[in-house]
Amino acid sequence: MPELPEVEITRRGVEPWLLNATVSEVVVRQPRLRYEVPALLRERLPGQTVRAVMRRAKYLLIHFDDGVLLIHLGMSGSLRVLPAGTPAGLHDHFDLVCGSLLLRLRDPRRFGAVLWLAHPAEAHPLLASLGVEPLDEGFGGAALAALLRDRRTPVKLALMDSHLVVGVGNIYASESLFRARIHPATPAGRLSAARCVRLARCLRETLNAALEAGGSSLRDFVHSDGASGYFQQQYFVYGREGEACRVCGARITRSVMGQRATFHCPRCQRVPSGG
Ligand SMILES: [Zn+2]
Repeated sequence: MPELPEVEITRRGVEPWLLNATVSEVVVRQPRLRYEVPALLRERLPGQTVRAVMRRAKYLLIHFDDGVLLIHLGMSGSLRVLPAGTPAGLHDHFDLVCGSLLLRLRDPRRFGAVLWLAHPAEAHPLLASLGVEPLDEGFGGAALAALLRDRRTPVKLALMDSHLVVGVGNIYASESLFRARIHPATPAGRLSAARCVRLARCLRETLNAALEAGGSSLRDFVHSDGASGYFQQQYFVYGREGEACRVCGARITRSVMGQRATFHCPRCQRVPSGG
């Protein structure tokens, strides 16, 4: 599933091609995605110019003068910039054609979304209740401690709660907790200030490492029909059940938390101690 770094890399990849481009046509081949793709896009967008390409959580926000086109990649979606007229495949559900180029959404599992948001877009229900952006300048230990205070929920689930912190899925929650040497089941509100500082720093490091890994794949967003925009990374714990910890050699443990697989090192990440 695309997580925040993949979406941010996608944004960076498509921005140079979309910014200041004028839409010539909207093609909807399959409107039944997670939500119905609004039919009005075909009338509304041609002739409009892209003013900004932004991101909030895992939503890509393409700004026009009188509204915002929201794109979410769902479980399996990817975006490509291709020459106009490139034949579409089975899962290519949506094209935003801008002159000689087009932005194409491929989404085999159709959990993605294409929606139109009137201004102010931040007031839309999908965006209004979102938590803080972990890559924002103001995010750090103090901000994280304030969010986690008095919460009994396991810290891993708190990290993945998009009402608190956005864009942190299973992979990055698991990896940042490992880097911070915090057991995923630790009650969120029991983390000390020092551990919150460490966790906030490790979360940013984990996300930034993924962004750096993805930077080299930027070219794939253009004139390419390859696989999705994921990039290969070496994980410390995620998906490594039974394998040796890269730091201490202990076997990585898999458990289930909030119905999601959770991976941690039993030696590096001690059981909850309250500190
Ligand atoms: Zn270890």
